[in-house]
Amino acid sequence: MRKILFGILFLISVSLYSDKSAWIRRIPLSRGELILEIKNSSQEKEWNEFAYRKTTDLFKALESYSGISFHEASASVFEGQRATEKFKVLLVVQDQILLNGTRVGGYNNISGDLGPARGIFMEPDLSPPGFPALLFHELGHFYFSDIAWLSEGLVSFLPFVLYKENKIKLSKEELISMAEEWNSEEGLQGRKDLPLDPDFREKLPLSTPVFYNKAFKIQYILYKELGSEGYRDFVKKLVFENSPKTTGQVILILKSIRNKNWTSILKGWVTSGPYEVYSWKTFQKESIFKTFVNLP
Ligand SMILES: [Zn+2]
Repeated sequence: MRKILFGILFLISVSLYSDKSAWIRRIPLSRGELILEIKNSSQEKEWNEFAYRKTTDLFKALESYSGISFHEASASVFEGQRATEKFKVLLVVQDQILLNGTRVGGYNNISGDLGPARGIFMEPDLSPPGFPALLFHELGHFYFSDIAWLSEGLVSFLPFVLYKENKIKLSKEELISMAEEWNSEEGLQGRKDLPLDPDFREKLPLSTPVFYNKAFKIQYILYKELGSEGYRDFVKKLVFENSPKTTGQVILILKSIRNKNWTSILKGWVTSGPYEVYSWKTFQKESIFKTFVNLP
C-alpha cells in the first residue's frame, strides 16, 4: 500500500516538474543571466523565438543606454523571492487570458500584486511577431514601475530612443507598428481630457487610451526639453531604488538636469490646469515618429 502511494506521489511530482509547455532560454547580460521562461499554449508557435530575440535585444540596449544592469535595475522586483525565481522573466501566452474570470487579453504581474503567479500574461495577438510594442512595454517595467504617468510613458517611448541611439535594431515596419500602438501621431481620442496625476484609469476605464497617449507624448516633451543627453541623465536617475514617488520629486530631478519652468511645461499634461507650453496642437505640427525615424 505504502509502495503504491509512493509510486503515485512520484508520478504526480514527475508530471508537475516536466511541464512540457515551458520553454527556457538563458540570456547573458552584464551582471549574470536572465532566465527567460515562456509557457506558450497558443497556436502561435513562432512567438517564442520572436520574444526571445526581442527580450535579448531590449535588455542589452537598456543596459547599454542606462549604464545600469538588469540585475541591479530589477533587484526590487525580485526582492524576497526564492533563489530559483530570481532574475527569471516568465511570459505566459494563451489564446485567452483571463483575470478573475474576465477576459482581459493580457496583464503584467511581475510585482505579484495580482496573485502568486508572477509574470507577463498575454494573448499572442497583442504582440505578434513583427509587433514588439507591447512586449517591450511590459518588459520595460522591470526597470521602471514608479509613478504611473512617468513609467507607463517611459516604457512605451524608450524603444524609440534606444533605436535613435543605435542601441537596438528595428525594422521600418516594426517602428511603424510601435508608433501606431502608442498613437504617437494621434490627437485626443474624443474623450475627456484629464491630467495624468492622479491616475484616472481605474475610475474612468474608457479613458485609458487617453492615459497612454498622453503618457507617451509627455516623454516626447521631456526628451525635447532635456535634449538627448539630458534625457539619458533623467532616465538613469529613475532606475535606482530611490526613484521618485511623487510628481513634485520628478520636477526636482528635472530641475537638477535643466533649470526650466517644469511646472508650466507639465501643466495640463500631468498636473491640472490649462495647457501652457505644449498642447494637442503641438502634435499636429510635430511628428514624434519623424523625430526618431528617418525613412529613406
Ligand atoms: Zn505598463
